[in-house]
Amino acid sequence: MGIRDAYCNICGAPTHTTLMRVFKDKSIIKKLKKYVPDAIEFDDVEEILELNKMSEDAYYEFVTELITKDVSKGGAKYKWLENLILLHKSGKLIMVKFNDYYDYVDSSGKSYMPHFEFEKTSHCDGFIVHKDCYKIIEKKYGKSFKYGDIDLSNKIKRPKIKKYDDQFNPWMKYSLNGDQYLLESPLKNMKNKSRILKINIKFKKTTISRKPASNRKPSKKKKSSKK
Ligand SMILES: [Zn+2]
Repeated sequence: MGIRDAYCNICGAPTHTTLMRVFKDKSIIKKLKKYVPDAIEFDDVEEILELNKMSEDAYYEFVTELITKDVSKGGAKYKWLENLILLHKSGKLIMVKFNDYYDYVDSSGKSYMPHFEFEKTSHCDGFIVHKDCYKIIEKKYGKSFKYGDIDLSNKIKRPKIKKYDDQFNPWMKYSLNGDQYLLESPLKNMKNKSRILKINIKFKKTTISRKPASNRKPSKKKKSSKK
């Protein structure tokens, strides 16, 4: 099994910010597009060098000049991507952070291997989601949910973010396509929130009620007093 970046089971966005790069301003996108006309594989350095007959040194000089390389130094807007909840098979919700590929750790340093799609799996510890994504789905369904509440027979579709589901996070691609909002917290960015709320996550009917108990219609069962 090769290594692969992992994405949130709810929103489909990255689960760490390692090597994350964001553009300083919009004018940079124009400059970048000159070098990468199809605006899709900017992280494929070899292809870009070939395409532009550019030396590797010149490329890195160009890139360093134009972009902020490490978002963790001043990229507070994207820090939410690192705050994760593992929906553990046991039913527990465990706060974890990315450590390495397929390796997420809790505050005591205990290691977990999550599965990155809501589907049946035997060899993983559970599912990984952003804390912020969990919060909005929790609100939508009216109560907190656990591993066992999710309908794993349902195949989830995430149309807007599908093209970024690559072996490694295609950081540049988001900015080149003007899709930076996909990397912003749904608690702050309403466009991303609305997208995430439309994702077809399904819960087992018996465990989740869509409305708070007080809003439910009275039961149609005959009352015992009328017997
Ligand atoms: Zn998410």
